[in-house]
This record gives sequence, structure tokens and C-alpha cells, in this order.
Amino acid sequence: MSHISKKYDLHCHSTASDGELRPAELMQLAADKGIEAIALTDHDVTDGLKEAAEAAAGLGLEFISGVEISVTWRAKHLIHIVGLNFDINNAALQQGLSGLRQQRDARAEEMAKRLEKKAKIDNVLEGVRQYANGKILSRTHFGHFLYNEGHVKTLQDAFDRYLGEGKPAYVKSEWSPLEEAVDWITEAGGVAVIAHPARYKLSATKLRGLIEDFKACGGLGIEVVSGSQNRNDSRNIAEYCKRYDMHASIGSDYHGPSQSWLKMGAIPPLPSGCTPIWEAWNEIKAVNGSAA
Ligand code: AMP
Ligand code: MN
Ligand code: MN
Ligand code: MN
Repeated sequence: MSHISKKYDLHCHSTASDGELRPAELMQLAADKGIEAIALTDHDVTDGLKEAAEAAAGLGLEFISGVEISVTWRAKHLIHIVGLNFDINNAALQQGLSGLRQQRDARAEEMAKRLEKKAKIDNVLEGVRQYANGKILSRTHFGHFLYNEGHVKTLQDAFDRYLGEGKPAYVKSEWSPLEEAVDWITEAGGVAVIAHPARYKLSATKLRGLIEDFKACGGLGIEVVSGSQNRNDSRNIAEYCKRYDMHASIGSDYHGPSQSWLKMGAIPPLPSGCTPIWEAWNEIKAVNGSAA
């Protein structure tokens, strides 16, 4: 029997973090573009999920809870771990996310100081806050501030000149250890996924190390198809996914209309031969259901 899969998007951002559309607007756009099942995965915060879930229900979209957690792996690599299909009221998860938001606040203050000193811009933090609607400050908000106030020519330029790793306003932070982030998600009944693995520019040895460490602490999935990876990356990551017997995830990483190169609903499907991540949570449900 052939199974025609629903059209899934398991990675996108709203105004609760660094996206440009409100959760309900994002759900409407997804439905308009033919998405049938969606997870909202804001950075280190779940505030958008309630509004998104309600909007999705009204649109006949299957909704999956999501979050994208900032992780520091092996003391120096910034890695993003997506959590999917968890209980949003889980105390340990929420406490963990709250700690990460404190880190973000401290980092934002330091970034603002550096921009004031090195780029001679005044009142940076107040300025950046005008571009943030939720309770987190992201480098994206700094980028929108720098761009809209005419300090850089494009958003990319803001990262190239100031915000990217090693640039004058880049502040290295201690995010969550990999194992903790995976634990929070798993304890909350969800599944953990390595987001856009090709974006970290890891050597093959390091990428294997990341997947092995992740798997050892209970991680189940890898984003094979991502709006921030190209087709070659996808093919390559699909091979890792099969070799390590991981589930494959798919998500646009859509942030809003100013990402002119990325349209909602336009990413290719999972390559054949990959075991989709939604089978992982169906299995978890079956196990929990039979144990109850
Ligand atoms: P943060 O989590 O605050 O460190 O910010 C990282 C976010 O910045 C990512 O989730 C992207 O949305 C955005 N970002 C990172 N690099 C770039 C870039 N080169 N151009 C535009 N946005 C970027
Ligand atoms: Mn982002
Ligand atoms: Mn990310
Ligand atoms: Mn993302």
C-alpha cells in the first residue's frame, strides 16, 4: 500500500521569538501554502504555541508543539536542537528555557555595549527592543535594528560586519549542554531533533561526534530537509540519518517575508528511504498508551 504523506513543516518562527508574523498569521500563511501539519519552533520560548494551536485548529491544520533550543556542544559549538510534540506545561522544560532567556538578556546587554563602543551607535538596547515583540532578544532583532536605522545595507551585512561569530558585537555565551536540552524535551514527552546540521560547518568527524553524542543522550531525529540547507546538504544528511538509524525531520526555518529567498510551503519533501520523525511520536504514543 502506498502512503502519501501529509505536507509537514516542523520548523518555523513567529513574533514570540525572531519571526516577523504573529503565530496566527503564520498558521494562516502555512494553510494558504498547502501545509497540512505544522510545528511552531520559536527560539527558547513556547509563548506562541497557544495562539498558533488555536489558529491551526480553526484552519484544519494538524498542530505539533515545538521549540528550538540553543545548545553549546563540546564547550564551543553553538547547536540548535528542535523539540517536537512535548507537553508545554512541563516544569523542567520551562525552567530550562527560562534560564536560557536570562542568558539571552545578559548577552543582549553586552552586545549593545559593544555596538555602542565599536560602532559608535547610541541607545542600542532601547533601539533593538523596538524590533522585538516577545520576551526574547535575538541577534535577528539586532540585525533588524542595524538595518532599519541605516547602519548596514542588508540584514546579511549586519551579521557579516557585527553579529556573526568573531565579529565585533559577537558575544560568546554558555547555552544549555546538549544532554540537558535533550532531557528537557524527552522528559516532557517529546522528541529531540538536531536542527539544520549542515549549517554548523562541522568536519565529517565532528558531525559524526555530534550525532553520536546526541543519540547517546536520547536524541531521535535529524533535520534532513531544511530551508537553511541546500539539496546537496539534504542528500548528505539523509545518508547520516540512515547510517545512524535516526528519524528524519523536515522544516522550512521560515522567519517571515524579509527572507526573500525562502517561501513558506516551498521546501522539497523528505527523500525516500528516510523514516519520518512523526513515526517516532506515534511510537511513543503507542508505548505510553499500552503501558497505561
Ligand atoms: P541568536 O539565537 O540570538 O544567536 O540568533 C540567531 C538567529 O540569527 C538565527 O536563528 C537566525 O534567525 C539569525 N541568523 C543567523 N545568521 C544569520 C545571517 N547570516 N543572516 C540573517 N540571519 C541570521
Ligand atoms: Mn532565528
Ligand atoms: Mn536555528
Ligand atoms: Mn530556526
